[in-house]
Amino acid sequence: MKNSRFFTVLWIGLLPGLILAAAAQGPQPLDAGYTAKIKEYTTEPFFLTELVDHLPASATVPTPEKALGYVIGAPGKLTYSADIYRYFRQLEKASPRVRTFSMGRTEEGREMLLAAVSDEANLKRLERLREITARLADPRRTPPEEAQKLLDEGVPMYWITGSIHSTEAGAPEMLMELAYRLAVAETPLAQNIRKNCVVLVTPLLEVDGHDRYVDVYRYKLANPGKRAPNLVYWGKYVGHDNNRDAMALSLALSRNMVRTFLDWHPQVLHDLHESIPFLYVSTGMGPYNPWLDPIVINEWQILAYQEVEGMTKRGVPGVWTHGFYDGWAANYMMYVAQGRNAIGRFYETYGGIGADTLERTVNEEMTQRTWFRPNPPLPKVKWSHRNNINLQQSALLIALDYFASNRRKFLENFYAKSRRSVAKAVTEGPAAWVIPADDPRPLECAELVNLLRLHGVEVHRAEKEIEVARKEGKEEKKEKFPPGSYVIRMDQPYSRQADMLLDIQYYDAKDTRPYDDTGWSFGPLRNVKTVRVTDTSILKAPMKLVEGHVRPAGGIRGESAAAYLIPHNAENALATFRFRLKDVEMLAAEEPFKALNREFGAGTFLIPAQGNPPDLRARIERAAQELGITAHAAGETPKVAAHRLAAPRIALVHTWINTQNEGWFRLALDTLQIPYDYISGQVLAATPNLRAKYDVILLGPVPGSSQRVVMGLPLYGEPVPWRGSELTPNIGTSPDQTDDIRGGMGLEGLMNLRRFVEEGGLFITIASNASVPIDFGLVEGVSITPARELQARGSVLNAVVADKTSPIAYGYGERLAVYFNQAPIFRVSTTGAASGGAESGASAGRSSGRGSPSDPDVVQGRPYTPPEPKPELKPWEERPLTEEEKESQRFYLFPEPLRPRVVFRFADEKELLVSGMLAGGRELANRPAVVDVPRGKGHIVMFANNPMWRQQTQGSFFLLFNAMLNFEHLDAGRKAPSAR
Ligand SMILES: [Zn+2]
Repeated sequence: MKNSRFFTVLWIGLLPGLILAAAAQGPQPLDAGYTAKIKEYTTEPFFLTELVDHLPASATVPTPEKALGYVIGAPGKLTYSADIYRYFRQLEKASPRVRTFSMGRTEEGREMLLAAVSDEANLKRLERLREITARLADPRRTPPEEAQKLLDEGVPMYWITGSIHSTEAGAPEMLMELAYRLAVAETPLAQNIRKNCVVLVTPLLEVDGHDRYVDVYRYKLANPGKRAPNLVYWGKYVGHDNNRDAMALSLALSRNMVRTFLDWHPQVLHDLHESIPFLYVSTGMGPYNPWLDPIVINEWQILAYQEVEGMTKRGVPGVWTHGFYDGWAANYMMYVAQGRNAIGRFYETYGGIGADTLERTVNEEMTQRTWFRPNPPLPKVKWSHRNNINLQQSALLIALDYFASNRRKFLENFYAKSRRSVAKAVTEGPAAWVIPADDPRPLECAELVNLLRLHGVEVHRAEKEIEVARKEGKEEKKEKFPPGSYVIRMDQPYSRQADMLLDIQYYDAKDTRPYDDTGWSFGPLRNVKTVRVTDTSILKAPMKLVEGHVRPAGGIRGESAAAYLIPHNAENALATFRFRLKDVEMLAAEEPFKALNREFGAGTFLIPAQGNPPDLRARIERAAQELGITAHAAGETPKVAAHRLAAPRIALVHTWINTQNEGWFRLALDTLQIPYDYISGQVLAATPNLRAKYDVILLGPVPGSSQRVVMGLPLYGEPVPWRGSELTPNIGTSPDQTDDIRGGMGLEGLMNLRRFVEEGGLFITIASNASVPIDFGLVEGVSITPARELQARGSVLNAVVADKTSPIAYGYGERLAVYFNQAPIFRVSTTGAASGGAESGASAGRSSGRGSPSDPDVVQGRPYTPPEPKPELKPWEERPLTEEEKESQRFYLFPEPLRPRVVFRFADEKELLVSGMLAGGRELANRPAVVDVPRGKGHIVMFANNPMWRQQTQGSFFLLFNAMLNFEHLDAGRKAPSAR
């Protein structure tokens, strides 16, 4: 407290203008009780500003305290979504300066809310204001002269969103008070904000997760001295990654955000986060996303320095910008605005501990003074929930005041950026992206088009063949696209969003360590051909705007009824089809064959009429039509080696430590209507006969060592429940519950898993979780090599089919772009010996001697003996063991049928990178990507890539489905032992 006088003097010294201006309006009565509480809950006077150190009173509008029974920022108080929404609706009822709108529902059916706060006049003409921002957003229908008039008439919109991250729970509380303050306060600042902009508020982005977080916090308060669970589930599917979905738009919150953006066209979207001290304002260190208009980058800086200066001037320590994150990836929620010519930004404030007050020691790095943090956070503080609210709210008021004062500039910039986006086709290019109509995967092409349309991107279809020029080096070549090809023109307002998704990323490994994924090219990851066209003549080609949801027509071709043949093109709807007709007997062809005057590839689905239900044709027809699949009716079942294609019983296993990354698997499986049981590792431990219940057990990707994944949370202390109760009702709607989150599958679970595999089951691991079967000895002959030089953080890399006869490769071409994040690097050996084995023998080179590097070495004084010829090996192939080696390793040498089978490998170093970051690629080049290890009657399949990542890797999904549907016949096509 001893600093308080100093700071008061400082305020009066620095801000006489503000204080005098307030006085000139005549004092507005304060809510004295509320004001006193604000001061009481704030730990230091320098964590409070004159903007929020009081609450204006109102005779008509209820304060948050009146509605909730406590002052915002009160220790121990967090508010459920229903009460937050009730308060916003009370504000709407009581004040002509507030309106509310529903944005849609979450996965669990909770509402997402949008409130608009502005002055009465603006809210009365809200429809007109929305029309103005919509017109400015599309310069194709708004010529500059008209835009000038709209710039005079309109006001910009600033959209604030709270708590996308459920453990960062200060913002929803703060936003209630901010809305009240903006609606009621009569300071010049509040009047300026109301008059010159519309403030949009979404108090809660992750509503399901927020309510569960309040549950957990209540549990903690009600059980002092006991350990409360972590927030095991946030939203239905993912936790922190809900802020990585702005490209795939696979979560309800992302889709609701985009839809709302397209309804309002706000100029700023400001997302509130809580982690680092005391207030970080986003700009980022770079490399910045290169698809953004440079005007946006300038706007980030201009806005950030308003808050940093404004807060510093008011004596608040530790408000800074620049560091912390990079500004590269386009997957953050704020790209809902950023990708559409508006500004996306965020704060990080020091929060994240419920509504507690406690002594905190600040991370030492954050207390260092640097050029971008000239006024760093203090090393040790008593920090309160209210402090967090004070900082968020004060800085926002500074930003809003600046935004309102520059009303015209922000609208003008928005229009300028929109114009430059339309001009992109002819200025910087490309002119368009094309998805050719002859792509062998029409369904996945259509899905990509549907996604682009969800983004607000216009997609056209070529009405005739299109021919464009294409530069290859100095040569100009012609390229043709058949009629029906999809064309994504870059002369449209959201060209940047489309280009950002479809283009190739290059992230220099020497740059700042990336904050998240470095590559995401949607065409390659979805195994769909996308062509970047720079020839602007394409813009004149006849084409028609795509409207509505796109799906290729499906059905049965031909009348014969002995068998139905469905070519395997690795389209995900085929998996849906298999499970939809789960009682129908289907076979998979093991080799390519000819029938009906055409070629069918290995993996073709064969559905014989014989032995199947009489209504087979009708059922195939209906499913094929609904899913867009084509089946061919044949007069006889083709004579080709085939095996049963199962509709297996699947279990997806999670831990109680972290459920985030497997959440993307649940989302993918649910979206494709593939049934599975969702079980924790504890269930593996408690189920001795897993084979009786399941055919396939998939260990979802879980961070942590194999020991942590297997053992789970340590079994010390008392049980920690994750279960719905009167105190914790929202935990009751979680995807899974338990009376005790401690403990995992343990050694019992591993033993049960081993038996499961030996009895014919399939166990699948994703990425680094391969360490579970490797470290605990469920597989032999596969190890993980630590990376020394490899830098491939969230990159898109090329994998190549190494064994095209494996059922896991059915439907795929020679090459597939996969998502890989730094680890694991697999090594496969023909022996189980700790060392040795025979990896491909790199050339030993030659001795120093006569001649050139390629000349033979000639020993003097004896006749020349040529060296032993080397076996011709492909780079990933192993050198056959010599007779001597076979003898010395006789105990470790696996018979051929038990050896690990490499189905996909990573490409040669030169061809490895598709998109993102890659350095030291030779460590990964040619290494196994998908390995199938037989054990007993079953298999363990391990993926180095993550085939179901953030709903972006649709091209890799079928690697998993192939393994699952063919789980009983994964040895199909295996080379005979004599081949070696
Ligand atoms: Zn966050």
